[in-house]
Amino acid sequence: MFFSDIVGQDAVKEKLIKQAKENRVPHALMLAGPQGTGKLALAIAFAQYIMCENRTPSDSCGVCPACTKVSKLIHPDLHFVYPAKAGKDKSDTADDSTIEGQEDLLTVWRKMVLDNPYMIETDWYDAIDLNNKQGIISVATAGEVIRKLSLKSFESDSKVMIVWLAERMNVQAANKLLKLIEEPPAKTYFIMVSENPNLILKTILSRTQQVFVPPLSASAIAIALTERLGITPDRARDIGKVSNGSYHEALRLTRHNTNDYFEQYRNLMRLCYAKRYPDLLDWVDDISRLGREEQKEFLSYALKLTRESLMLNLGLDDISYLMGEESEFGKKFSPFLGIANVNQVTKTLAHAYECIAQNGNPQITFASMALQLAKHIGPATQT
Ligand SMILES: [Zn+2]
Repeated sequence: MFFSDIVGQDAVKEKLIKQAKENRVPHALMLAGPQGTGKLALAIAFAQYIMCENRTPSDSCGVCPACTKVSKLIHPDLHFVYPAKAGKDKSDTADDSTIEGQEDLLTVWRKMVLDNPYMIETDWYDAIDLNNKQGIISVATAGEVIRKLSLKSFESDSKVMIVWLAERMNVQAANKLLKLIEEPPAKTYFIMVSENPNLILKTILSRTQQVFVPPLSASAIAIALTERLGITPDRARDIGKVSNGSYHEALRLTRHNTNDYFEQYRNLMRLCYAKRYPDLLDWVDDISRLGREEQKEFLSYALKLTRESLMLNLGLDDISYLMGEESEFGKKFSPFLGIANVNQVTKTLAHAYECIAQNGNPQITFASMALQLAKHIGPATQT
């Protein structure tokens, strides 16, 4: 991973590069900031820059053996810690099946990060089948960190441990690592990544140097989308505006044809408004045929559009994040989504999301959702 692979964040890059050049890389660094801003990518680029045998003033060389291995995430002196299933870790101390399990996890990790260094926590949990549960960094994992860092370095003169989502360390794990962070072996660097440093044990936090990684500007996102993915400047600008400073969200918006969701949302709202029940059941059939992830995405999309329509209803056009035809429809439909019913509509959509996320039956979930919505939207709802 090169610094140049990372979208925006010039100030953070400069700061890290300066630290490396001046030989004052902190033993424990904390890259903190919101989701989708490139913290993990920065951590890996920084690790590569530290280990590179022939770095340039602005980036790693990309061709030395260290760069080659870091770029595949297989450098023996670059270690990763990430949240995983709690129970499994506990039983995992030394037997072979565990080590194999850890290896499998590492293989999935490498693939996920190489595919998208902007991946977010839920992407990871989906990949390791955590089924909407939150992962933890357990005391067993902390023990493994201590073991790895007590080994002599293999190839590089430095060792780097990247802790992704350090806030997922439980208290025992954090306490176990504390001593190592207080008195790290020479040339050992912790790079922690956190979206919520407030959840991290204060004693750990106070020993890290925090660097804030801010949300990306809409224009940085737009430029990256056009340069890297060939998205037209107009669409890139729209996406930049609605992705809330997150390149992860921007990528998601480019991958998914939100127009499909928009059509579905518009149909749903129109049919509910007109109380066309037989057509609504056809709508339910259609959406029930989608995969569960797509159903979830549709529902988050519908929630977003509903919120935004309320903004338009309240005359707050400036802070509405709708684009193109969404915005037109939002404006036309906004009289029917107001203070009086938006709570009910939002609740209904959110409830459907929960049911789908918990493996509820899509037909039943969407049918019940559609009937609820029909009750809340349209002329008959005025009370
Ligand atoms: Zn290099």
